[in-house]
Amino acid sequence: MDSIHLSPRLKAVADFVPLNARLADIGSDHAYLPVNLLLNDKISHAIVGEVAKGPLDNAHHELKKRHLLERADVRLASGLAAINDTDNVDTVTIAGMGGILISNILNAGKQQEKTFKTLVLQPNTDEQIVRRWLTTQHYQIIDETIVQEESHFYEIIAAVVGEQQLSDLDLIFGPYLRVEKTATFVAKWQKESERIALIFKQLQAAGKSDTDTYRQWQLRYNQIQAVIS
Ligand code: SAM
Repeated sequence: MDSIHLSPRLKAVADFVPLNARLADIGSDHAYLPVNLLLNDKISHAIVGEVAKGPLDNAHHELKKRHLLERADVRLASGLAAINDTDNVDTVTIAGMGGILISNILNAGKQQEKTFKTLVLQPNTDEQIVRRWLTTQHYQIIDETIVQEESHFYEIIAAVVGEQQLSDLDLIFGPYLRVEKTATFVAKWQKESERIALIFKQLQAAGKSDTDTYRQWQLRYNQIQAVIS
């Protein structure tokens, strides 16, 4: 993978970025995503935010190599603190981090009164926490997709400012993903079902079938079966 040939995961994030966006990519590392979008003239400008010096240097190196330093600003900062009001950023991408960290980054930004029209988020874990953050913080999910890379499944969520009510099933499985029910979505939740089936065996072997923990796993298992069947 490089900035010309994005991985399926980063390609799916790129596909959700609106044309001509003024983008901030937070936690950009190598900056493959903003570099790809700039090279394809899909965005007009990029802020490349990184909290760590090593990844920041990677980003700078990649932008320089592709002669894009005039169309991007590379900033060492935590989260949305990389973005100034005068940048006129309208779209923020945050990819490749845990959902709790993504929600914390967005929360810290809200406290600084930073709101952006479009968010494209790719949590590696805890997708439901990200969806809950969006719906409670006046964002509306407008699209979702799921991709597989080797044994990993990645959900990508696009949201814009707006109001939306989400059910518990929407939060867990995704309001679009659970309706579209693609083969990749089914494969993700089949894998999770198999993991839970192993947990059942371990709890049964330990004589813990009549416990709240067992019942909670049972509930999750049944929810998954109902959604993917
Ligand atoms: N976004 C790229 C991708 O999806 O391929 C890189 C993901 S990399 C696994 C996560 C990056 O997020 C790291 O480079 C890390 O330094 C950065 N990061 C973690 N916490 C951050 C924060 N609070 N603000 C900005 N960057 C952060």
